[in-house]
Amino acid sequence: MTRYVQPVPAPADPYAGDPLLRSWLERQLGAAGHAAAKGRLGDLAADVVGPLRAAHADAEAHPPTLVRYDPWGARVDRIDTSAGWQAQRVAAARHAVVALPYLESARGTWGAAARVVQHALLHLYGPESATFSCPVAMADGAAALLSLPEVDPGVRDAWLPRLISTDPATAITSGQWMTESTGGSDVARSTTTGRPAADGSWRLTGEKWFCSAADAVMAVALARPEGAGRGSRVLAPFLVPRYAADSPLAGGAAPDTPAPGVTVHRLKDKLGTRALPTAEIGLRDAYALPLGDPARPGLVRAMTLVVVTRVHNAAAAAGGMRRGLAYARAYASARHVAGGALATSPLHRATLGTLAVDAAGAFVLAGHAFALLGRVEVGADPDAAAELRIVAPLAKLATGRLAVSSASEYVESFGGAGYVEDTGVPRLLRDAQVLPIWEGTTNVLALDVLRAVSREDAGEPLLRRLAVAAELARPLSPALADTLAAVTAELRDTLAGITADPQSVALLAGARGLALRLAHALTAALLVEHAAWGDEQAELAARLWTRRWLRHEDIAEDAHHHLDLLG
Ligand SMILES: Cc1cc2nc3c(=O)[nH]c(=O)nc-3n(C[C@H](O)[C@H](O)[C@H](O)COP(=O)(O)OP(=O)(O)OC[C@H]3O[C@@H](n4cnc5c(N)ncnc54)[C@H](O)[C@@H]3O)c2cc1C
Repeated sequence: MTRYVQPVPAPADPYAGDPLLRSWLERQLGAAGHAAAKGRLGDLAADVVGPLRAAHADAEAHPPTLVRYDPWGARVDRIDTSAGWQAQRVAAARHAVVALPYLESARGTWGAAARVVQHALLHLYGPESATFSCPVAMADGAAALLSLPEVDPGVRDAWLPRLISTDPATAITSGQWMTESTGGSDVARSTTTGRPAADGSWRLTGEKWFCSAADAVMAVALARPEGAGRGSRVLAPFLVPRYAADSPLAGGAAPDTPAPGVTVHRLKDKLGTRALPTAEIGLRDAYALPLGDPARPGLVRAMTLVVVTRVHNAAAAAGGMRRGLAYARAYASARHVAGGALATSPLHRATLGTLAVDAAGAFVLAGHAFALLGRVEVGADPDAAAELRIVAPLAKLATGRLAVSSASEYVESFGGAGYVEDTGVPRLLRDAQVLPIWEGTTNVLALDVLRAVSREDAGEPLLRRLAVAAELARPLSPALADTLAAVTAELRDTLAGITADPQSVALLAGARGLALRLAHALTAALLVEHAAWGDEQAELAARLWTRRWLRHEDIAEDAHHHLDLLG
């Protein structure tokens, strides 16, 4: 008897095969702007289906290791990473995945929409990056922080060009050392302290509990300046050179050893993101450079970084969902079950079609956050800043949850093969689970949304967008328009209640439900905007998303019928 070997689904080109991405770029950039981006996106897509897929598998198969001592007993704390991880690093630099929005040439071509192009790059790069997307996010956050006018120009000039270099030989990434074992969500409990040195630099002492990209050349660390008092607002961001090469205190130490005062205690043994070194790091009088005046409340400066990493998180979630869908669709066309190809089963098609609606929603939500970020950075648009205040946490929390539920379905859609490591499918689920945790859990972000609404009136720009979308939807579908109008009215009442009594127990207990409803309504509005521009896929996704997430209806039959248009 011949042994049956399953056909392997062919990887599709993630740029050519993603009509929503392409039409989104056409609308956001204009035809000429999109044409100017096509070369970059095509090059990256070609790498993704070729060398980066192989590099991803290599990095997953060879997780980082910590070498504490050299053969003669000297403490070296060296983190060894795989060839695949290094290939991801090189690709991130070469494809300007961090650099693009900072490059003069890109700002000249796309203006504020350079962030839209960057989002497209991340959408392609992230899912096959072995979570190098994490150092990419933190390097981008550090670059945004270093770009603030209150940062010392000498520090900026020394470090920013390295973070945004497109030359793999000079490009660096950054870690971000915020979480301590006393509390990650509650940074007010941080115990790391900073004291000034005579030369204007500082010395940091404390313990950092979760430091991803622990192999990066620098980190942004939060510390409490000596004498600053309690609470979180006074915490200040500092740049810590990770290696002796960049520390003036290093003396004759080998350049690739840790900077004096920086100790890598151990690497975390994590559920997922296995290629990414995440360490516990001790600081003892470690050399640090202040990012802004430490005498002024610094958490607000650190939030510049956090907003960037939150929108990257949304991009990673949406990108992973889209790639999971592509894998699952390819597999469904190759796999035969009772009755023929899996791809012809009405039930399987309905499952995938529903996931495609979620993937479309996550994409526009992440895409909108990047578009707003660009408008804030280029042109200091106050309307965009007001909207981004609420969109960043909403996009992060809603896409994070969707990514986990979708990844579970994608694994299941492969049957038993989806549970077997060397198919590469299980990591979809493992790697998705970090998305709702780091940079603010779902609940912590939901509380942030409440604060934004009650203290900064951040609900207003959202309600305005919803009201406009309800009007835009009328020619497309009266039912869709009516639902959006009704949800807008409902949310307007609810948000008014927040301002009246922001500490009500009912409100606090229901914060997650409210934040998700706001995010789902915003997503519907964004899909409608894209549909009104003329995108057929977005129109269908808007109708089905609205029925699924705002009216809580079963969309299986339509999802089955329209799977091909949806994804
Ligand atoms: C893979 C991975 C990589 C990471 N990398 C980094 C990194 O590079 N740098 C870094 O600084 N951190 C990093 N983190 C840490 C991460 O940001 C924190 O784990 C996260 O912010 C949660 O903090 P915590 O672990 O202290 O949990 P806690 O804050 O103790 O949260 C525990 C639970 O309490 C809930 N909770 C907390 N506060 C409230 C509240 N006020 N109301 C209601 N519920 C609440 C949370 O939702 C959660 O369910 C990483 C984490 C992971 C898993």
